[in-house]
Amino acid sequence: MDIRRCSMNKPPECDICGRSEGVDLFCYGIPELRKLSSSWYGDAACTDCQQKWIERHTVICCDCGTGYVTVNVGVARRCDPCAKIYNSRVSAVSTEKKRAKDKGLSSTMKRSDWVVTLDHFGNQCAYCSGPYEVIEHFSPVVNEGGTDPFNCIPACSRCNRIKGTLDGRTQREDLSERLGIPISQLLQIEDYLNQF
Ligand SMILES: [Zn+2]
Ligand SMILES: [Zn+2]
Ligand SMILES: [Zn+2]
Repeated sequence: MDIRRCSMNKPPECDICGRSEGVDLFCYGIPELRKLSSSWYGDAACTDCQQKWIERHTVICCDCGTGYVTVNVGVARRCDPCAKIYNSRVSAVSTEKKRAKDKGLSSTMKRSDWVVTLDHFGNQCAYCSGPYEVIEHFSPVVNEGGTDPFNCIPACSRCNRIKGTLDGRTQREDLSERLGIPISQLLQIEDYLNQF
């Protein structure tokens, strides 16, 4: 379906040179843009200007550094695959912030803080090096531990469960025994968190 023809009475004009002959709606003519067509009503350019249009709509992804074509120039920052990865890494932040706020606790962690922490721990559980599955509050929520950058580390669900309500700052000995990790590792985690 030709969206522009349906929504406007005059034939489409090239957005770059203004001609109306030989204009192709990008979502049909250019493979990289065809996949965007479901969420996009379509700019138009003549076949002579297509290359220029692509250059104007190419953005460098801030994560992987490759150029990708987007209609949201100036807004988009990441290519689709990187955006998917980024979103999956930070998706738990808003949930945990809300949880803290609902309990009247501090909730100052930004998504960018969390990305720094995930990178620091290599996207792994800070206790056992298993996969990152949950945001773990080093001082637990029951001890008024908020969702703050100086209190949150990545953990696997298992360690998170085993740790229970023990406080990583005040119950080191119990915690090291329960998790089977040395106290020095808990001190290292604490040192890292204290940098925030
Ligand atoms: Zn043109
Ligand atoms: Zn990318
Ligand atoms: Zn773990």
